[in-house]
Amino acid sequence: MTDRVTRPAIFAGTPAAGASLSRRSVLGGMASAGALAGAAGTSARARTVAGWDYVVVGAGAFGTWTAWHLQRRGLRVLLLDAWGVAHSRSSSGGETRLIRTEYAGNALYTRWAWESLAAWHELSRRHESTIFHETGALYIYPQDTAAIDQSMALQRVLGIPVEKLGVPDMASRWPRINFEGIAVGVMQPTMGTIMARRSLQTLAADFVKAGGGFRQFAVDPPRSAKARLDAVTAVGGETLSAKGFVFACGPWLPKLFPDVVGDRIVPSRQDVFFFAPPAGDDRFERGNMPAWVDVSSKDLHYGFPDIEARGFKIALDAHGPRFDPDTGDRRVGDRAIAEVRAYLARRFPDLANAPLAETRVCQYENSHNGHLLIDRHPAWSNVWIAGGGSGHGFKHGPAVGRYVSDLVLGTGESVPELALAAHKVHG
Ligand SMILES: Cc1cc2nc3c(=O)[nH]c(=O)nc-3n(C[C@H](O)[C@H](O)[C@H](O)COP(=O)(O)OP(=O)(O)OC[C@H]3O[C@@H](n4cnc5c(N)ncnc54)[C@H](O)[C@@H]3O)c2cc1C
Repeated sequence: MTDRVTRPAIFAGTPAAGASLSRRSVLGGMASAGALAGAAGTSARARTVAGWDYVVVGAGAFGTWTAWHLQRRGLRVLLLDAWGVAHSRSSSGGETRLIRTEYAGNALYTRWAWESLAAWHELSRRHESTIFHETGALYIYPQDTAAIDQSMALQRVLGIPVEKLGVPDMASRWPRINFEGIAVGVMQPTMGTIMARRSLQTLAADFVKAGGGFRQFAVDPPRSAKARLDAVTAVGGETLSAKGFVFACGPWLPKLFPDVVGDRIVPSRQDVFFFAPPAGDDRFERGNMPAWVDVSSKDLHYGFPDIEARGFKIALDAHGPRFDPDTGDRRVGDRAIAEVRAYLARRFPDLANAPLAETRVCQYENSHNGHLLIDRHPAWSNVWIAGGGSGHGFKHGPAVGRYVSDLVLGTGESVPELALAAHKVHG
């Protein structure tokens, strides 16, 4: 299908409009996750494995943090994923994700991003391989507006460092950026870049080390004629029972719950590009270049400095065509490359001819208005659904995990905007 999925501008942040683990032990940790779960039954067909309080289906940002929080609250938790933690087709499986508290004055997401930043820092501190790089986050706007000031005021109330900058100041701090067409910038110096895939694999290893279970297990769409769900079943027929279930299946939620979720979440194709700066050129590395969002660009371009020599990353926030996370073609077309090069030549002229080092195609899982979708299943009292990240969900993983745990344990208030009833089917 080629219908483009409409982007709600507000959530792009556009006010103008313990033990340290090496990578080796992380992988070892996941292997022991399998072994742990294996003790409870691995390849058995048509047999029921019990013993877990909660099963969390989906090891992306939402599911992994939910499993971690439920475990911290004393539950025995099994985390399942059809392919693995932050695998290449999941929405969380990219190299980097931006965390910023610039949310067009939306108090919920400003607070959740701020709460989550502390958790990403803590995870980063516990490990020898960096999870969070404090690159700063720079928003550049074509006009100075009252909405920018309102959003900054909200952040300042929470104690978040944020500064408004004029073009001469920005041009002297970041001379590699051409600020043509820009009136003002907002710099959030303590925000930055989360190493997406690494962070979740590290978190999952922590979870397993603390006694959680992890299994590669593809869950069939759940069925139950009762008021509760007793078990989930894998394609091979094996059944896992638990007291409760959280489905955090990102862009796959519509396939698992066609009636309850359906087109309330629509995945869209999103292209990502990495350009290689010249050899020995550190002008585009973190320290010399922040993570940035260009609100003046029609497609809302955003990007990251060259981190860990992966390349200068650039992407478009505009929603692409509807995309199937299982079968969608993940090659980037020549036209998209030409378009992003034209943008690069204008905004980052020194990279105009830089070689394209890598491309990726990921998918957003969009709700109609950009709000996350987190609610109890309407028919099964012990089942929760968490998704609808809508292109901005990753950073909130820790807050989402805490929120879902509160709902599950009955210790928190639900947020009406996130409920199923507040989510419309895409037109
Ligand atoms: C290109 C791109 C850039 C982005 N940039 C940012 C950013 O800068 N900042 C930000 O905060 N957010 C960003 N996002 C959004 C963010 O990455 C997502 O909102 C978030 O990762 C969604 O996480 P999730 O856990 O809901 O879904 P996923 O990461 O997709 O995880 C769902 C998991 O469920 C599993 N699953 C599905 N079905 C089954 C089944 N039947 N059985 C078992 N397992 C199953 C899948 O295998 C998958 O691993 C970006 C997204 C993209 C695509």
